[in-house]
Amino acid sequence: MTAHYDVVIVGTSFAASFFLLRYLEHAPATAKVLVLERGNADSKAWQLANRRHSSIEPEDVYDNDNPRKEWYTSPGFGGNSKCWMGGTTRMMPGDFQLQSRYGVGVDWPVSYDDLEPHYTAAEQVMLISGPTDSPMPRSRPLPLPPHRFSDPDTLLKKHFPDGWYQMATARASIPTGQRGVCCASGICGLCPLDAKFTIQNGLAHLYKDPRVTLRLRSEVQTVETAAGVARGVNYIQEDIPKRDTGDLIVLAASALFNPHILLRSGFDHPLIGRRLHEQMPIYVTFDLKGVKCYNGSTVLSGLGYLFYEGEHRRDHAACMIETWSSPFAYRPDDALRLEPNRWNERLMLGFLFDDIPSDANRVTVSEHDPRRARAHFGEYSDYAKRGADQIPRMIDKLAEALPVERLVSTSLGTTAAHIQGTVVMGNDPGASVVDRHLIHHQYRNLLVLGSSSYPTASPAYPTLTVSALSLWAADHVLGRAA
Ligand SMILES: Cc1cc2nc3c(=O)[nH]c(=O)nc-3n(C[C@H](O)[C@H](O)[C@H](O)COP(=O)(O)OP(=O)(O)OC[C@H]3O[C@@H](n4cnc5c(N)ncnc54)[C@H](O)[C@@H]3O)c2cc1C
Repeated sequence: MTAHYDVVIVGTSFAASFFLLRYLEHAPATAKVLVLERGNADSKAWQLANRRHSSIEPEDVYDNDNPRKEWYTSPGFGGNSKCWMGGTTRMMPGDFQLQSRYGVGVDWPVSYDDLEPHYTAAEQVMLISGPTDSPMPRSRPLPLPPHRFSDPDTLLKKHFPDGWYQMATARASIPTGQRGVCCASGICGLCPLDAKFTIQNGLAHLYKDPRVTLRLRSEVQTVETAAGVARGVNYIQEDIPKRDTGDLIVLAASALFNPHILLRSGFDHPLIGRRLHEQMPIYVTFDLKGVKCYNGSTVLSGLGYLFYEGEHRRDHAACMIETWSSPFAYRPDDALRLEPNRWNERLMLGFLFDDIPSDANRVTVSEHDPRRARAHFGEYSDYAKRGADQIPRMIDKLAEALPVERLVSTSLGTTAAHIQGTVVMGNDPGASVVDRHLIHHQYRNLLVLGSSSYPTASPAYPTLTVSALSLWAADHVLGRAA
């Protein structure tokens, strides 16, 4: 039996939930919303008991062409909110205008100013902790006080007052009522104190709204279209094929699965699946002389903007630096010093460089099983690599503030754990799949939400922007846009 809904939403993580939040605020009491989620509910108790985020492993749902490049996905209610680290940086104004400011990449069809009110709203919903000063313009302070810096952060802030900031994070710095205070233990994926914002602890109430029907274990296969309109979705619920229709169809299944569903549905824009990208992450470990590390009050305690915005972006990638404040090391043998009383005089910094997406890096439908996506990733851009070439110069600069004794290791990470591109946005239907409100250029009642829309990377963590874009898109379809 096919049922008809006002809205059909695919996915239950940030992209879906922030859209649903704004939609329900303004929808009438008679509205009917169907939400389809491929995975299980996997409660916090289940996750802790099983030491896993999801009863479905990433390998169960997608193939990866390149073992040196991982893309992590945590299927189920709340998606990757179950396992994310909680870093919630805004993008910088220049990230939206790479082409017009620096002559590289493309401009986004939205600006920082367009998103600013939505960034603010998403920060209030997630109860972000962070600094009172800011590297970017803001209309409102962050809702929770900042976490305590680690000692190296304090030195860096003193030396570079406009270049170093406390981490903006969805890990609570004070009790929030729903969430405990971050313990900075480094067991962050599971977050035993439930300190970080997740859909489960922050927005689960949306899915209990009487207007909403949530179907778990419901894997969407295709979007059905006719006469230029998206009519509905075909999905498999616990091995039973089903079909429901809707006035508005919203894909929010991530940058791996949004293109997968569109390709399976026969959408033929040449850019669908293309420009898979993320930041290029490089982890650098140092020994410091007489400075104790790992004593910030959250796992990632500081953010460096010294090498982010500026004319260098004409030539090479911008970089955001993160301070790791728990003894995590990309190479576990590097985590701690072995000399007596000096175990914590060791610092790991993550250097995140933006990348210029390439058409060759992409998501396709797996040839041996169409229910699986397949990720193909060859290389980062030369632009990103030229950015990484600057690391020795950057370390020299940081050493003005830090007593660097020796460099221990430099490692290219296999993942920044961010998946971006694949259904890119733009103003030109020939050069993009969705428009500035994330509406499909041809099928005007089809939205494709999430970081799949990103035309270029930025060094910033992506999820606050995903959430802000969903609020922006919801306002537009509700006719509430300014
Ligand atoms: C280990 C880790 C750490 C991270 N840390 C950070 C961080 O500190 N800061 C940051 O900004 N970002 C971080 N991220 C990235 C962040 O998790 C993602 O940007 C964010 O989750 C994207 O939200 P989304 O709603 O678009 O997609 P997802 O969270 O990927 O959710 C997609 C949803 O769609 C569902 N779905 C998929 N396919 C189908 C289908 N066919 N049918 C039905 N449902 C489907 C999934 O089950 C899931 O619920 C991290 C990611 C990982 C893995």
